[in-house]
Amino acid sequence: MEKANIKYDIAIIGAGVVGGLVARSLSAYDARICIIDKHIDMAMGASGANSGIVHAGYDATPGSMKAKFNIEGTAMMPGICRLLGVSYKNSGSLVLAFNSEDEKQLQKLYENGIAGGVKGMKLLSKETVLKMEPLLNPKITKALHAPTAGVVSPYKLNIAAIENAVVNGTEFLRETQVLGITGNKGDFTLSTNKGDIFAAVVINCAGIYADDIAKMAGDGFFTLTPRKGEYLLFDRSEGGLVENVVFQPPSEKGKGVLVMTTVDGNILIGPDANIVESKEDSQTHADSLDYVYKTAIKTCSGLNLKKVITSFAGLRATPDTGDFIIGESKKIPGFFNVAGIESPGLSSAPAIGEYVAEIVSGSLGGLAKKENFKPGLDTHEFFRDMDLNEKENIMQDNPDYGMIVCRCENVTKAEVLDSIRRPAGARTVDGVKRRTRAGMGRCQGGFCLPAVVEILSKELGIEKEEVQKGDSGSNILVERNRP
Ligand SMILES: Cc1cc2nc3c(=O)[nH]c(=O)nc-3n(C[C@H](O)[C@H](O)[C@H](O)COP(=O)(O)OP(=O)(O)OC[C@H]3O[C@@H](n4cnc5c(N)ncnc54)[C@H](O)[C@@H]3O)c2cc1C
Repeated sequence: MEKANIKYDIAIIGAGVVGGLVARSLSAYDARICIIDKHIDMAMGASGANSGIVHAGYDATPGSMKAKFNIEGTAMMPGICRLLGVSYKNSGSLVLAFNSEDEKQLQKLYENGIAGGVKGMKLLSKETVLKMEPLLNPKITKALHAPTAGVVSPYKLNIAAIENAVVNGTEFLRETQVLGITGNKGDFTLSTNKGDIFAAVVINCAGIYADDIAKMAGDGFFTLTPRKGEYLLFDRSEGGLVENVVFQPPSEKGKGVLVMTTVDGNILIGPDANIVESKEDSQTHADSLDYVYKTAIKTCSGLNLKKVITSFAGLRATPDTGDFIIGESKKIPGFFNVAGIESPGLSSAPAIGEYVAEIVSGSLGGLAKKENFKPGLDTHEFFRDMDLNEKENIMQDNPDYGMIVCRCENVTKAEVLDSIRRPAGARTVDGVKRRTRAGMGRCQGGFCLPAVVEILSKELGIEKEEVQKGDSGSNILVERNRP
């Protein structure tokens, strides 16, 4: 039984971007820490399926946790991305108005942002907006511009945060599902499918399951409702349609359907918002995607459906409290909730990480800071971004750079190997994809899949039939020598 009966100072449940950044911040302290996830890899919950927007912070009610952590997290994002080698772009965002009713909403958002301390916002005339974004619908009347908004790869930030925590001594326990929690501060037992884990404090970062985890611990005072959002992703050749993240006015369903260019250069449209019953429901539906497309073309009529390369869906963990739930349980000392982290959770995660690390350290009597903490990761430029000289030099140093595995995204064998060999590295085809982009191009893995399976099988020392696509049980090859 892997890792059973080991006592940790801190056990973090959930290896999404929130758990990941909490782990990274805590790994600066002298403590034995583990981060536990039921999946085979990190970034397999909401953190792997969202818009990737670093929101400026004008939506949330001033004074709420959402507003505080959003504005602080957004300010921290460029620095943290630099340290972790994660691409970030300060794209800015626009909310469009199409009539006087919309303009009133923009005014409200503007005032909300000012009250919350969002910097640099402006209400722009139609002419100014169309100069900035000439391909937008000319029927717009005004727009709210927020220059502090940006875009980031959510799963890369999630992966890099956990890798950084692991480099600083945190243990990442994969495929470990927490099934029960007993005890109190200094003496928690987490029962899992891999045996018991003992910890002095427990941090609940379990995403949409955080209410179930809180219930297990004996303090289920909140409920989370899964609200699904579906997206269409376009080929990179469609990139450049818009520079800013472009929203329509928000509705009772949320921030609404947006059109944006991801940090990797793909156009992304979505999400819609529908309450679903199952916390595992990640299917996309023709009618939802049709709604997303028909709404998005009101923003930008030039969207070419033929260039769609994939669709996906993510589940928002909407709390019945109306705000993020962050802090020590009043009933179970030593049990910390970091729950109900729906949007803008990605933007807020760096600030949430720092805050939670401080309160948890305080609860353990004030942990000492590590002298040898490494705040960043050793990363290198992707082959596709190198100039010809750099490409030639690196191929001479390491011939595996001369073997292109993914032609759509120009990913080399050396980079696939590195993604598996890194601390907390990839174990699956999708894990390689999230780390390198192999399989993210227009053929969606049609060309590179066999090569990635072969490399994973050799590197992990397993048969090709054992290589998984996403999670355990998603074997790609089922049988050899089928008659
Ligand atoms: C459609 C959509 C769009 C969004 N867009 C944005 C955006 O543009 N900008 C923004 O700032 N935010 C956005 N968000 C919000 C953002 O994605 C989330 O706030 C963030 O990803 C939440 O991270 P998390 O770590 O709390 O949850 P998750 O990423 O879901 O991670 C929770 C982890 O807990 C694990 N877990 C659960 N139960 C157990 C158990 N029993 N045992 C072990 N492990 C367990 C899960 O496997 C999972 O890996 C969006 C969300 C959605 C759904």
